Amino acid sequence: MLPEPIQTLVTALERLPGIGPKTASRLAFYLLRTPEEVSSQLAEALTDLKAKIAFCQECFNITSAGRERCEICDSGKRDGTVICVVEEPLDVIALERIGAYRGKYHVLQGVLSPIEGIGPDDLKIKPLLERIQHGGVQEVILATNPSMEGDATAQYLHPRLQALGVRVTRLARGLPVGGDLEYADQNTLLRAITGRQEMN
Ligand SMILES: [Zn+2]
Repeated sequence: MLPEPIQTLVTALERLPGIGPKTASRLAFYLLRTPEEVSSQLAEALTDLKAKIAFCQECFNITSAGRERCEICDSGKRDGTVICVVEEPLDVIALERIGAYRGKYHVLQGVLSPIEGIGPDDLKIKPLLERIQHGGVQEVILATNPSMEGDATAQYLHPRLQALGVRVTRLARGLPVGGDLEYADQNTLLRAITGRQEMN
C-alpha cells in the first residue's frame, strides 16, 4: 500500500485523459523526487487555471475569469450569421491565427466517443442548438477534426442543424485524416475553411 499523500496524487492523476495507473504512479514518484519549486509551480499553475480562466457562456471558448463572454463574442466586428463549430479552444486559436475567418465560434469541448462514454449531453451541443434557435444564424461550419470521432460528431449534428433551417458546411478535405486542426499548417487550414462544402 502506498502512503496516503502519494495515493491521493496517483488517484488525481489517473483521472486525467490518457493517463493510466502506471503512468500516474510514475508521475507521482517523479514529482516526489523533483525539487520543491517544480511541484509548487505546478500546484500554483493548477490553482491559477481555475481562478483566472473561465468559459464564455455563449460559445464556450476560454475567457478571463469574471467575464461572461469571450472577446470574439463581444466584438462588434464579427459576423454573427456564421458559426464555426470546433472541438477545443485550441482550434479557435489555430483558426484565428490564419486571420481569414470573420464569423463566430462554438466550442463543443470534446467529441462524441462511445468508447470513452462521451455522449451528446457531455458536449456543448444543446447550447449550440439554442443559439441557432434564437435566430440570426445562416451558416454553421462543422470544423471538427477529420478523425473518426470528429466525423461522427459532424454526422450527428448535421440533421439537427439542418432541421433548424441553417446551411451546414464541413471543412474541405485536405486536412490530414486523423490529424488535429490545431497542428495543421496555416495554408492547409486556410484552404480547408475557404473551400468548405455543403454537407450531405
Ligand atoms: Zn464566446
